[in-house]
Amino acid sequence: MITVKKFGGTSVGSAEAFRRSADIIRSGEGNTVVVVSAMSGVTNYLISFLESGESSAAEVIDTMRVKHKEAAEEVMSPGLLKEYLEVLDLRLLSLKELLEDPDVRKDPYFNDNISSQGERLSAVTMAFVLREAGLDSVPLCSEEAGIHAVGCPGAGFADLDLTSRDLSYTLRPLLDNGKVPVITGFYGRNGEGKPMTFGRGGSDYSAAVIAHAIDADFLEIWTDVDGFMTADPRIVDNAKTIEEMNFSEAAELAYFGAKVLHPRTIEPARRKHIPVRVKNSFNPQGKGTIIHHLRAPQDELLRSVALKTDLSIITVNSSEIAYRPKMVGRIIDRIGDANVIVYAISTSLSTVAFLIHNNDVKEVLRNLNTLEGDDIERIDVKSNMCLICAVGDNLLDRCGASAEIFGKVREANANVELISEGASTVSLNFVVSMDKATPVVRALHEGFIG
Ligand code: ASP
Ligand code: MG
Repeated sequence: MITVKKFGGTSVGSAEAFRRSADIIRSGEGNTVVVVSAMSGVTNYLISFLESGESSAAEVIDTMRVKHKEAAEEVMSPGLLKEYLEVLDLRLLSLKELLEDPDVRKDPYFNDNISSQGERLSAVTMAFVLREAGLDSVPLCSEEAGIHAVGCPGAGFADLDLTSRDLSYTLRPLLDNGKVPVITGFYGRNGEGKPMTFGRGGSDYSAAVIAHAIDADFLEIWTDVDGFMTADPRIVDNAKTIEEMNFSEAAELAYFGAKVLHPRTIEPARRKHIPVRVKNSFNPQGKGTIIHHLRAPQDELLRSVALKTDLSIITVNSSEIAYRPKMVGRIIDRIGDANVIVYAISTSLSTVAFLIHNNDVKEVLRNLNTLEGDDIERIDVKSNMCLICAVGDNLLDRCGASAEIFGKVREANANVELISEGASTVSLNFVVSMDKATPVVRALHEGFIG
């Protein structure tokens, strides 16, 4: 039996957290492959260093050294600590050389390279913490392990076939010899061998990619909350953990606002039917959430309500769009050229409305303006919108489900600005203005979840 266990930033955020996570790893059965995020705060620090350019290379190295050494000192015995510090210093030396090399900065993958350094350090630290706990552990960076990435800098995704091929060479022999590999999350190597990150929070996705590649029996995501919740507990006081979900529900929720998992995590696991457990490393006895294929049908209408804030509706007006089949395609093409995510879309005879992040509006408008003059009559923008994602079992087949849901929206005195329904069997998504988001989420939770 093989279990891939991923530990997020807070689960490796301090000496205490490393120790707790090591206990979780030690108490598991069968083979374990560990995947780690950077220690909490490290990626943010590295990204702000890249953005502000204020700290010197020496400051960055010093900050990294102090943070990792402090945690290691509390956990490791003197002999092992000495060995660890030698490895840490070697890694920091190559980071220093990287930061001081003026040519490397011109590399389009420089930011990916620097922002993924936290994982390289935490993987080494975790491997030594596990050695201290009596396990034969080996740190591997994504390049060594063979995690292949495609896409563009800062927004890569895995080449599942190549990764499966390489991981079977790199990981199998280690597992057969009883070793515990600790692999860096967050990034892979592209075709030229350059580091490419999977977007913020990407270590969850790395773990799913690894689980897929080695045909793991389980994927465990160890985080600092008790799993998927019925709503954001900051909005709904009595939000509860959802104990069981199917892959589609979890994928929709992760994508549309629940911040528990990187949105792409579910797909690699689903492809190989690998059950995913989301658990709290600060409360390992808690049940957490299990995500898998089969789940007993539920009676209640909704399972969870998520929301995504800071969105804008762009409405493109063009006469009789409906009779010009290529027109919608051209509009979508322009948005695609801006590399922007569209969260919902709706069309009528003469308009196409779509939902994007507030921050992407300028870029999208610029691209839409390159459409031929007579194609577009007017473009309207409504900003500060919020997408509500109501997730439940087989919503599409339940007669009256929408009426019930929108009945609650009306009770919350909110106006529905756009609806996306029918595309997914497990979610009904609609847009309200930001100031109505909280009352709507509360009304739906109280009405259908309790
Ligand atoms: N360390 C990266 C981040 O903070 C990746 C992760 O934590 O999953 O986004
Ligand atoms: Mg995370």
